Amino acid sequence: MNVFSAAVRKLTLQYLAVIMVLSLIFSFVLYQVANREITGSIRGQGRMIIERSGGFLDRREINRILQREQTLARQRLVGRLIVFNVVVLGAGALASYYLARETMVPLEKSVEAQARFTADASHELRTPLTAMRTEIEVALRSKKLSTSESKQLLTSNLEEVNRLESLVGGLLALARLPGGSVIKQKVELAPIVDKVVLRLRPISDQRSITVQTSIPQSLAVIASNDAVDRTLTILLDNAIKYSLKGGMIDIRASRYVKQVRISVTDSGVGIKPSDQAHIFERFYRADQSRTTSGQSGYGLGLAIARETVELYGGRIVVKSQPGKGSTFTVSLPSA
Ligand code: ADP
Repeated sequence: MNVFSAAVRKLTLQYLAVIMVLSLIFSFVLYQVANREITGSIRGQGRMIIERSGGFLDRREINRILQREQTLARQRLVGRLIVFNVVVLGAGALASYYLARETMVPLEKSVEAQARFTADASHELRTPLTAMRTEIEVALRSKKLSTSESKQLLTSNLEEVNRLESLVGGLLALARLPGGSVIKQKVELAPIVDKVVLRLRPISDQRSITVQTSIPQSLAVIASNDAVDRTLTILLDNAIKYSLKGGMIDIRASRYVKQVRISVTDSGVGIKPSDQAHIFERFYRADQSRTTSGQSGYGLGLAIARETVELYGGRIVVKSQPGKGSTFTVSLPSA
């Protein structure tokens, strides 16, 4: 029996114990009250019969009959209370089991997701480590390793270390997300967008990609600087990664009722409809060959972006046409 079935059983028994204690207390009180009523009413009846008969009937005989009536009424009451408690026991057991399952199912799902995540993360961590170890072992076995070969090895190792660093960074970001305190403040969009564009300029310039922005000066959202920065960095980084050389990226924002929508549009490779439903899942990567920059990620970026945005009551959606480009739109509460 797995730990969850055991927990459901334990919880069911605990809920049922509470229900039964309440039911028994209720039955006891009911018995006391009803018993008093029965005794009172039978005594009253006895007095009435004796008065009406004018001493004609034997008092002791009447008392004996009434006593028997009283015992029968008590037995009927006890019988009904037993039936009531059996019904409560049956219905309570079903209700307790249902409630216990309702309590445990989300926990079970979250533990399952955590286990899957750990397995995926370990797998992703192992791949670059294995690649590095193999390269180092081959180099060490070589009798005469030239300087250029050593440099080549170190460069390749450095690439793997960079990838590992970004993976660990992503994993840490995801691990901290749900537990971290959610600071909600007014965040002006224009300065953050400028900062993100500037930070990624070396990569966009390297690929001759133009990034244009159109953000109204006073536009602000309720979130945190870090959250907006992180989300926009992921979206712009992807837009650059999946754009063709010399492409165009457009970042714009506007207010819609109580929301601000920020969209990042690229004219890159686009995303197949069958992939669009999955790209926000952790470790999901669409067809790797379509990464135009030669850089492959870990499929964590959009998961981090979505989970970040949702922490602030926002949403992130994608519209994309393969071969034409994609638009990622983030909606956040407006300030
Ligand atoms: P990755 O690190 O692989 O980029 P993400 O979670 O950021 O991970 O993205 C998941 C997948 O979504 C990517 O592998 C890619 O296939 C697809 N994708 C994300 N952004 C874009 C984009 N702007 N254009 C085309 N495909 C994209």
